[in-house]
Amino acid sequence: MKKLALHWQIIIGMIAGLLFGALALQFDGGSQFVVDWIKPFGTIFINSLKLIAIPLIVASLIKGVSDLNDISQLSKMGTRTIGIYILTTIIAITIGLVLVNIANPGGFIEEATRNNMMESFSGEAGSRIASAAETQQRGPLAALEDVIPDNLFAAMSSNGNMLQVIFFVIFFGIGIILIPQEKSQPVKDFFDGLNEVILKMIDLIMLVAPIGVFALLAALIVEAPSVDVFYALGAYALTVVLGLAILLFGFYPSMVKLFTGIGFSQFLNGISPAQLLAFSTSSSAATLPVTMERVEEHLGVDKDVVSFVCPVGATINMDGTSLYQGVAAVFIAQVFGNDLTLGDQLAIVLTATLASIGTAAVPGAGILMLVIVLESIGVNPAGIALIFAVDRPLDMIRTAVNVTSDATVALIVGKSLNKLHEPRVKNWDDNYKPQK
Ligand code: ASP
Repeated sequence: MKKLALHWQIIIGMIAGLLFGALALQFDGGSQFVVDWIKPFGTIFINSLKLIAIPLIVASLIKGVSDLNDISQLSKMGTRTIGIYILTTIIAITIGLVLVNIANPGGFIEEATRNNMMESFSGEAGSRIASAAETQQRGPLAALEDVIPDNLFAAMSSNGNMLQVIFFVIFFGIGIILIPQEKSQPVKDFFDGLNEVILKMIDLIMLVAPIGVFALLAALIVEAPSVDVFYALGAYALTVVLGLAILLFGFYPSMVKLFTGIGFSQFLNGISPAQLLAFSTSSSAATLPVTMERVEEHLGVDKDVVSFVCPVGATINMDGTSLYQGVAAVFIAQVFGNDLTLGDQLAIVLTATLASIGTAAVPGAGILMLVIVLESIGVNPAGIALIFAVDRPLDMIRTAVNVTSDATVALIVGKSLNKLHEPRVKNWDDNYKPQK
């Protein structure tokens, strides 16, 4: 019998998890059962993916950079990648701003709902505002300083330091390019072999992905706030979802078709397991190993491009987050009755671009950086309390968008550098097979 495609297996796991969570809520002690006995499998699944992220970046990026014949190729790839990342982010925020100004979701919020939300979520809002204040107090070049680690092992000890690891690895790769080939070859071969091992490990982890997402979604349901708040915030949530859907189903597939000729279904077939995983985990960092594997093996982008574009994207390119920050900022201003000028809206484009770059690739990071966007336009940052209740589901969708955007840019950059080929895995559902 033909095996069910991976993305279907994951979708079935997700639906079963949602139903199981909903069922557990009907029984006394059901939620606690899910938290004690089901949720840990979700955590184990996410942890095993996160575990792979740093070794994967190291092995594949060293191999990737050292395969480039000269340093000018690296800088060409770097400038293109960053340029396109910023461009797609600005387009995403603009789509968000146009939608929120037309839909005016703030107009749907009654005074009572507003006060209720502000009261219920003031604690959470306060702690996010305090963390954002810490980020803001640092000097203008702090972000640059942060990229250069003073100790490699300290940098590798946290997935939050991905850019530091990338910096070291590129530096190391440049060293390899500059030494004689007879010395560099064994080093390259080692990392090449290591990379194959790690890709295989990702395949093994993905075998249990349906169980992992089942556990994650069951836990999400039993821990979710009550349904009433979803109704109150419906117009706002729908505006964000509509914007994200335009990116997911319109903007990215069109860009991919336009620049690489790859059709909608091939693109979606190739990348969907990563999207589903991003949706289930709300973390682009945890999804990164799968994103890289799919873009390389199933969409055909060369390793040297994937190993640079995807990890950098997971850290700085967050179109879904920036669109959401744009919509949320205007929504909160609308609820508070602040009139935003065109200048304010442009300030949102600028700060949301920077804020999304600074957003960590973990669940709920986007709402923290939203504080900075709100402050830049003079709106009370305590307003984030208004949107807390629906943040998690929106985080799930925006993370799927973030990951899709990284894959899109990897394809475009790959094509522009002539590094896009027939995928190694032709049948996109097959497992990864090392080259002979
Ligand atoms: N969870 C998102 C990500 O990992 C970031 C955010 O918007 O909160 O991409």
